Amino acid sequence: MSAPNSDYDPVEVTPLHADEVERMRDEALSAIAASSDLESLRAARLAHAGDKSPLALANREIGALPPQAKAEAGRRVGQARGAVNAALAQREVELTAERDARILVEETVDVTLPWDRAPLGARHPLTTLQERISDVFVAMGYEVAEGPEVEAEWLNFDALNIPPDHPSRTMQDTFWVESADSGVVLRTQTSSVQIRTMLERKPPIYIVCPGRTFRTDELDATHSPVFHQVEGLVVDEGITLAHLKGTLDAFATAMFGDGIVTRLRPSYFPFTEPSAEVDLECFVCRGASVGDPENPCRTCSSEGWIEWGGCGVVNPRVLVACGIDPERYSGFAFGIGIERTLMFRHNVVDMHDIVEGDVRFTLPFGTEV
Ligand SMILES: [Zn+2]
Repeated sequence: MSAPNSDYDPVEVTPLHADEVERMRDEALSAIAASSDLESLRAARLAHAGDKSPLALANREIGALPPQAKAEAGRRVGQARGAVNAALAQREVELTAERDARILVEETVDVTLPWDRAPLGARHPLTTLQERISDVFVAMGYEVAEGPEVEAEWLNFDALNIPPDHPSRTMQDTFWVESADSGVVLRTQTSSVQIRTMLERKPPIYIVCPGRTFRTDELDATHSPVFHQVEGLVVDEGITLAHLKGTLDAFATAMFGDGIVTRLRPSYFPFTEPSAEVDLECFVCRGASVGDPENPCRTCSSEGWIEWGGCGVVNPRVLVACGIDPERYSGFAFGIGIERTLMFRHNVVDMHDIVEGDVRFTLPFGTEV
């Protein structure tokens, strides 16, 4: 079509007729005007101003015209294409403005809507209490130690002077991993972390280890098969029961208020000698309900004391098992239930509330950090 042709009469080249160019231009302009959005304008641009549009094809025909006809045809087609391009540009501005205005309306955010329909979560009070307890001891110069929850039987029992025939080792009390002769248990106490610490480093040792422990208890109001303990261990020269008592009193005061003290009741644990149960002075009646039937105390059943945990002077056999000279060093250890502490502190009466994970239970403890 574009081959030179000197016999060419421009009047006979149909696409270049004035009427035809006008028709192509008007068709383009009406298609542009009819475009209702940017998408249809894009289609109109392709059809009427693209490389294969009628006006572009007509433009190519000009090259084949005799020289005397080129100027006239070029002006005519050029004007038509100019008009189409101008219309396209103007329509694009209009449609872009329309789209922006529509998006502003459609995607409006109503900042006056209530924002609290989806409740926020809350950290579990066991977690925040564990951190608070750790803070209390860190302030006294202790370090926080951690250990694995799946533990070697030797670290969980043997090193703690618990003999192989001790009832706590049976399947009734302990979760064994795989089988009872696998030598691997879910730790029944955080005391295994004490052993790991004493094996790894030399005295002086001042550590607390808060953590999760496991025993085959049924879940009821006061028991859970998964529970938390905080274990404390001190090994240094000249450590006595008096240091243990003072430490527990400071801990009790930090947890339950000024002046709350502890009482030690003789007991037995294989890994401490002597051993004691730790009782907490009732932080509600402070002992005033004892012998006063007129004002009974529900927290301590009018006994004045609440059982809190166990403690004692580290058994020299445990020190020996960990390679520490019992002639030079002595130490104390204690273990306190964190669930029990939480129940006392916040008057939680049912263990189910602690383990069920209902956010309505955890929320009132707030965003304590
Ligand atoms: Zn009381």
